[in-house]
Amino acid sequence: MDFTFTALQTEWQLKAREFARDKIAPHVERLETDLAFRHELFQEMAREDFYTFAVTPTEEGMVLAYLLALKEIAKIDAGIAVAMAVTSMVAEAIWRHGNVEQQEHYLPSISEGVCVPASFAVTEKDAGSDVKRIQTSACIDPDNSNYYVLNGEKQYITNADSAGVLLIIARTDFSPSVDHEAHVMSAFLVDRGTAGLTFPKVERKLGLLTANLVSVKFSGCRIDKSRLLGKEGDGLKIALGALDSGRLSVAAQAIGIAEAAYEGAVTYAKQREQFGGPISAQQIIAFKLADMRVKLDAAELLLFKAAWLRTKRSHFTAEAAIAKLFASEAANWIAYEALQIHGGFGYTKDCPAEKYFRDARVTTLYEGTSEIQRLIIAREILSTH
Ligand SMILES: Cc1cc2nc3c(=O)[nH]c(=O)nc-3n(C[C@H](O)[C@H](O)[C@H](O)COP(=O)(O)OP(=O)(O)OC[C@H]3O[C@@H](n4cnc5c(N)ncnc54)[C@H](O)[C@@H]3O)c2cc1C
Repeated sequence: MDFTFTALQTEWQLKAREFARDKIAPHVERLETDLAFRHELFQEMAREDFYTFAVTPTEEGMVLAYLLALKEIAKIDAGIAVAMAVTSMVAEAIWRHGNVEQQEHYLPSISEGVCVPASFAVTEKDAGSDVKRIQTSACIDPDNSNYYVLNGEKQYITNADSAGVLLIIARTDFSPSVDHEAHVMSAFLVDRGTAGLTFPKVERKLGLLTANLVSVKFSGCRIDKSRLLGKEGDGLKIALGALDSGRLSVAAQAIGIAEAAYEGAVTYAKQREQFGGPISAQQIIAFKLADMRVKLDAAELLLFKAAWLRTKRSHFTAEAAIAKLFASEAANWIAYEALQIHGGFGYTKDCPAEKYFRDARVTTLYEGTSEIQRLIIAREILSTH
């Protein structure tokens, strides 16, 4: 087994590291509040080709190159990384399920920055983990059968208010005796500025402050039939497929945050002196660092394996869930202990450990909670053995 990165992977890792250091790190505070400035950054990322990965998702070596780049961005700011991840997820869904017209229209628009960021909207007030409960509807317009009319409301949608395009999952089949639950939903591409599309609420939240968390309302929102992605009834399949890829991104993001927290803790433990020497001389502190390192390495190996499998076969559901579950739980533990090693300083805004702790938290929640990852893994084990 060869763990050496290819030239392409190393190139992307270094390019993302430099970009994050020079273009993101000095501006994180401004990126949290100034949406126009954040939009400029997304444009610059497009000019630097950070969205072209999405257009070549199964090209040999590209999956890992993308995840390594994403990890480097997340090490500096997880909110910017999540915008890149969701945009790539939407582009991949279009690449996989779109017709030629949709691919020719959207993929260049995404990679060139016209349509970035993209958003992926499934969650609703009564439909979180239980996706099949969604109520947002898409019905054929009775006055003109070339259109669908969308009604309903999504919540907790990343960057929806600045998205160039939203991939939304809506119900198209309301027949009372639905015995084909898997086929009642469909996927649609909704463009920025579509009439009837509004964003009633931006949430205040714990972390990921450079990404907005937004409610999306569809009020008689008419969209051309050509914006149906795949066939009617394909919505659940498209959403679950996108989430498999998305989980690798969350794992990479979690590892990025955790690696930053770990490196900060090592440095501080060697510098901070108490009881006549550096705190790293205390075995209990040194063992925390050792455990952090073990979890980080294990998380990375699980991610690498899942990324490798993704290029080899279409079904990598269990491996994606395993990597996401382990990396996100490890990141939370590492961020918690990294803050602990910084003592009271760790609790202040002057210490980066505080941000890592807040940003790590969401990784066990979105794109399926840890409980749901365990359900997926158990289902996969029991259906194949
Ligand atoms: C920062 C952030 C960004 C997000 N971005 C997006 C986005 O871009 N697009 C989008 O569509 N959604 C997004 N979400 C929503 C996210 O995917 C959901 O919050 C998540 O899927 C959980 O759904 P829920 O919040 O309704 O929790 P619930 O489903 O209500 O779960 C509550 C608790 O019950 C547990 N639980 C639920 N069902 C089971 C079960 N069967 N067995 C055991 N335990 C169970 C859960 O694990 C959890 O602990 C985002 C959320 C956050 C916080």
